[in-house]
Amino acid sequence: MATYTLPELPYDVGALEPHLSARILELHHGKHHAAYVKGANTTLEKLEEARAKSDFAAIPALERALAFNVSGHVLHSLFWTNLAPKAGGRPDGALLAAIDRDFGGFDAFKRQLTEAASTIMGSGWAALVWEPLAKRLLVSQIYDHQSNVAQGSAPLLVLDAWEHAFYLQYENRKTDFFEAVWNLWNWSDVSKRFQAASAQR
Ligand code: MN
Repeated sequence: MATYTLPELPYDVGALEPHLSARILELHHGKHHAAYVKGANTTLEKLEEARAKSDFAAIPALERALAFNVSGHVLHSLFWTNLAPKAGGRPDGALLAAIDRDFGGFDAFKRQLTEAASTIMGSGWAALVWEPLAKRLLVSQIYDHQSNVAQGSAPLLVLDAWEHAFYLQYENRKTDFFEAVWNLWNWSDVSKRFQAASAQR
């Protein structure tokens, strides 16, 4: 029994068109995300084998693989539920109030998140996170799936900026993809995550 499993998409693969093509979603979920799930499970097995053989020299590479694959699984699972057909617009209620307080308005937040996605060198993500010590929202620029993260912060909304997320449809025009995704944000999902994270002590 595998420890990590690929979640079903919460909508049909064609449901996010025209902003995100069915072919991209099919490959992104069914191949890329699936590979991170498989990688996470395989790495756990290799850790078990290494322990059994007292091969502790294998630990650094395995820990790096585990962080990469588990984080890839977590972020993709979050990304799928952050998106929805016929969504977008703006959040409301407590989430919008927190965005206003911590970013100086929704438009400033949108610009900061888009800039974080656009300026990643190599592969990574832009994320809206809740930082529980300061009790505030931050935008994070995540390298690969797991680096440059403020520990303890909870991701609420994540934007995949890897080339596999857009290249088949948008080619080198990645900012067009980062603009189109604002038609898909499922703010009720993000608000639910915000409420759960901000209620934690
Ligand atoms: Mn991806």
